[in-house]
Order: sequence, then structure tokens, then C-alpha cells
Amino acid sequence: MTSSILVLGAGMVGTCTALHLQQRGFEVALVDRRAPGQETSSGNAGLIQREAVEPYAFPREPGFLLNVALGRAAEVHWHAKGLWQMAVPLWRYFQHSSPSSHAKATDAYSRLIAHASDEHALLVADAGAQDLVKREGFRVVFRTPAAMDKAVQRAQALQERFGVRFQAQNTQALAQAEPALRLPLAGAIHWLQPWAVNDPGALVQRYAQLFVARGGRVVRGDATSLQAQGLGWAVQTAEGCLQAEQAVLALGPWADAAIRALGYRFPLFLKRGYHQHYRAPALLRQPMLDAERGYVLAPMRQGLRLTTGAEFAPIDAPPTPVQLTQVEQMARELVSLGEALPGAPWLGARPCTADMLPVMGPAPAHPGLWFNFGHSHQGFTLGPVAGRLLAEMVAGEKTFVDPQAYLPTRFS
Ligand SMILES: Cc1cc2nc3c(=O)[nH]c(=O)nc-3n(C[C@H](O)[C@H](O)[C@H](O)COP(=O)(O)OP(=O)(O)OC[C@H]3O[C@@H](n4cnc5c(N)ncnc54)[C@H](O)[C@@H]3O)c2cc1C
Repeated sequence: MTSSILVLGAGMVGTCTALHLQQRGFEVALVDRRAPGQETSSGNAGLIQREAVEPYAFPREPGFLLNVALGRAAEVHWHAKGLWQMAVPLWRYFQHSSPSSHAKATDAYSRLIAHASDEHALLVADAGAQDLVKREGFRVVFRTPAAMDKAVQRAQALQERFGVRFQAQNTQALAQAEPALRLPLAGAIHWLQPWAVNDPGALVQRYAQLFVARGGRVVRGDATSLQAQGLGWAVQTAEGCLQAEQAVLALGPWADAAIRALGYRFPLFLKRGYHQHYRAPALLRQPMLDAERGYVLAPMRQGLRLTTGAEFAPIDAPPTPVQLTQVEQMARELVSLGEALPGAPWLGARPCTADMLPVMGPAPAHPGLWFNFGHSHQGFTLGPVAGRLLAEMVAGEKTFVDPQAYLPTRFS
């Protein structure tokens, strides 16, 4: 007999979850208040990050923290209300970022990242999305020799331990590889395995079209109306009340509000981020992270996308794109950005957890309800892996990655 399931949230994570459940014979409705791939999964830097084997730790250098506190670091901006609201999970994030805890998190995180490109590759092929993906890696550039030397040592350690491949480029090699650079820099780490997506929202839409072509339903609806009903779950949609035996919450940055309504208090927080597009006359060949300034430049179909670091602010606080203003000046030193394309800067939020691991598995106190959120800095990368792992758990199959470290019960 076919089992029915609702997937709430059609970002990269929810859409991939829907596809993987469908592949296992479930009758799936993918529910979102907007069309697929319109929120966080559209505005990111578009990197499928095979090299990101370590989750992003809370920076611990006293000098950096002082600069953040004084509002002098472009990487981080904060609203007092945001810090106050997120104080407890942020404190736990700081604790989990100690070298020993971070090493444990890295073990669990790297097991997911290891499959990221292979899982995307299958969906990219089936969705006919090759035109959106460039498989030539991305660069982390350094302005000072000291930072470059440190980065080479770290990259070598990661290569030995996790098999992530890189090439160290000196000033000349970097200038040759990226003729659009206006300044001689100390060098770059060219990570060779990551992929660059030139329209991240379009990739989610292609995956959603594949889901529909295979018989899935995409429905507009409001996840806050989710209710246990009889032996299953029901949600209000534009097509009336949809009922199913099971449901998955894949609401990215909006997951916290949804699970709080069900009585859960998990250490979740947000790192908001902005982007703006520019009519750069000479586009970069590959995306680039300016490591000592904390922004990414990524060539997109729309133009050159400049993305910012972390802003600690409530999800619904009005935009304060001061970091964009700061990093735009820094980026203009390196490349000719040209004019900004018209329109307000895009604003989104990375859905983060204090222990830096995503939340994937059964809801501890609600039979038939599943969680799939909290993929923080790499949710675009991890969507297909997260979708497969969750679908295997729902189907009761042997999972391709041990799910223990990601289960929601770790917070109970
Ligand atoms: C500036 C920036 C740069 C980034 N760069 C990268 C990168 O290069 N590579 C990478 O891997 N990751 C990157 N990330 C992180 C990545 O974008 C996120 O981790 C990922 O998009 C999260 O996906 P998601 O599906 O969980 O959430 P989302 O894409 O936000 O999807 C959640 C969905 O839930 C829906 N929803 C919310 N509330 C309701 C409701 N009440 N009813 C119905 N639907 C609802 C929303 O409409 C949305 O479609 C970046 C993030 C930012 C902010």
C-alpha cells in the first residue's frame, strides 16, 4: 500500500527530501507558501562545497571578537535584540567550538559532505540541469603571506585526512588564473572539487520540476497550520486541507518557530546574510572567497553576486545591509564590480544549530513527524544528502550514513 507524506518547505532540503521519498514509493505533497527555491536556497553563493568538511566554528581569537564587539569586523554584524534572543544557543555554539568538540563535529559533518557532489550529480543529471553547474572548484584568496601560509598548512592537513583536493597558487599563478583581479595578492587555495551553480534558485526549481514530472504534487500552503489529525497530519493549502500519514518539517530558518509551537526548544539560531549583484565588466572565472575580509564573489547568470558574512538579528528585523556597504569597498579593490544592479539587496538567513550539526530524524514526541533542518552554512550543498538520509529513515531502510549524530533526540 502507498504511504502518504507531506514535506513542508520547498527549499533545497525539502525539495530533495520530497524527491527521495517519492523514489521510495511514497505519495508526496511538497508544501510551501511560495514557489520552490525562492528563499535561502536561492540567495546563497551557489557553492556545492565538497571541501567544507569542517563545520563553521565560533571564532575564538580575542582580537577578532573585540573587533566584532566594536562593530569593526565586516564579517559579523549584530543587532542587540538578536544577540539577546539568541544568547543561549550562541553561548552553546561557543562551547561546542572548543577544539575537542569541534573535532567531534567535524567527524560527523565530513561524513555528510563526503557524499554531497555525488548526490547532486545524480539529481543534476536526472533534472537536466548541467547548464547551471560548473565543476571547476572555487578559490579562497589571501592578501597577506602569513594568512596564505597558515591556509596551506590547514589545506594540507584536510587533504591528508579527508581527501579534499587543492592547489596552492602563488601571486603569479593566481593573477594568471584570474585575469580580472586588479591587485597582486599573496596567493590562493584553489579547491578543486567544489562546484559553482550560476543560479541556485533555478537548480531547486529544476529539482522540483523533476519531482512533478515523476508524479509529485507541489502545493501552496502554510506550514503553521500543521496539526496532528487522527493517525496522521493535516495542513491548510490553496487546494484545501491536505492530509497524510506522515509529515516532514524542512523549513530552514523558519523551523524554530514551527517546532516551538509543538513544544520543542532546540538550540537554534540564525546568521543572516545579504547579497547584491553587479554588472562586472570582466566576470571572475570561478567564485572567490576573500578570506581576510569575509565575503564571496560568485559569477551568476544575473551578474557578479557579492555575498556577506553573518548578521545576528531576529529573522523578521528590518534589513540593515551595512556589511554590504563595507565589503563592496573591499571587493572593488580586487575586481572591477561596475554598477550595482537595481533593486534592494537580498536578505536571507543560515539556519544554524549550537553543535554545528543538522537536525535530521524523527520528532521525539510526535509519531509520524520528521525533522530536516539546521544545515547552516552548507544547506545548499547538503540538500540531496539530507533528503536521501531522511527518506531512508522514513522508509526504514539501512541508511547510507549513520544518522546517530544528527538525531533530534540529542537535544531532548
Ligand atoms: C549569504 C548566504 C550564502 C550562502 N552560501 C552557501 C553556499 O555557497 N553553499 C551552501 O551550501 N550553502 C550556502 N548558504 C546556506 C544555504 O543557503 C542554506 O543552508 C540552505 O539554503 C537552507 O536550505 P533549506 O531548504 O533548509 O531552507 P530554505 O531554502 O529557506 O527553505 C525553507 C522553505 O520553507 C518555506 N517556508 C517557511 N515558512 C513557511 C510556512 N509557514 N509555510 C510554508 N512554507 C514555509 C520557505 O518559503 C522556504 O521555501 C548560504 C546562506 C547565505 C545566507
